[in-house]
Amino acid sequence: MRQQGILTVVSGFSGAGKGTIMKALLETYDNYALSISATTRKPRPGEENGREYFFITKEEFEALIEQEALIEYARYVDHYYGTPRAYVEEQLSLGKDVILEIEIQGALKVKERFPQALLVFITPPEAKELERRLTGRGTEERQVIEKRLLRAAKESDGMDSYDYIVVNDVVEDCTRKLHELIQSQHLKVVHNRELTEKIKGELKELVGSPESD
Ligand code: 5GP
Repeated sequence: MRQQGILTVVSGFSGAGKGTIMKALLETYDNYALSISATTRKPRPGEENGREYFFITKEEFEALIEQEALIEYARYVDHYYGTPRAYVEEQLSLGKDVILEIEIQGALKVKERFPQALLVFITPPEAKELERRLTGRGTEERQVIEKRLLRAAKESDGMDSYDYIVVNDVVEDCTRKLHELIQSQHLKVVHNRELTEKIKGELKELVGSPESD
C-alpha cells in the first residue's frame, strides 16, 4: 500500500535560515524531494541554474503562467517566483514527501489548492537575528536587505495562517523537528483511506454484515 507523499510548504523571513534547514533535511533523511522554483531574479554568486532555481526571463515566466504550468506564483521584492507543477505532482504520486520553500502568498495559494498540505513557518528566535544573517551573508546590497526586512515586517501577520512554527536556533534541532512533523502527517486518517477501508472490509467479513442495534 503506497501512500501519496506529503506536500509541505516551508516559509520564513528572508534570513531565517530556511536554505540551511532544507539542505540539512535532504542530507540527513531519505524520501524528500525539494521542488526547484522558477524565478526572474538574477543568480547570486555560487547559485546554479537548475539547482537553486530555474533562472528565467520575465517573458518566459509569463509564458509559464499562461500555460498553467505553475502551482502558484508570487512577486517578491521586484521579481517573480513560482512552483513548477509537473515535478511536484510526479514526486507526490511516487510517494516522495515534497517540500516547497516559498513565501507567504504562495503558501496560502497552495493551501487553497491542496487543503491537506502542511504549512510550516521557520523563524529565528528574535528579529534582530534576521538583519545579522542578511548582512553576514554578504550577497545582498544594503537597499535589498532593507526591502527584505520591510517585507518580513509585512509578512509577520501571515504567521498565524500556518499550521506549525519551528524556531531555528540550533540547525540540527530545527531540522529534526521539521522531519518529525512531516512524518507524523503520514499517520493522519485522511492519508490512510486505503487502510481504513481495508480494516472496515475485513471486519465486515469477520462478523458477517453488521446488524443495526
Ligand atoms: P530568495 O531570493 O531569497 O531566494 O527568495 C526570496 C523569497 O521567495 C523567499 O521567501 C523564498 O521562500 C520565496 N520563493 C522561492 N521560490 C518561490 C516560489 O516558487 N513561489 C513563491 N511564492 N515564493 C518563492
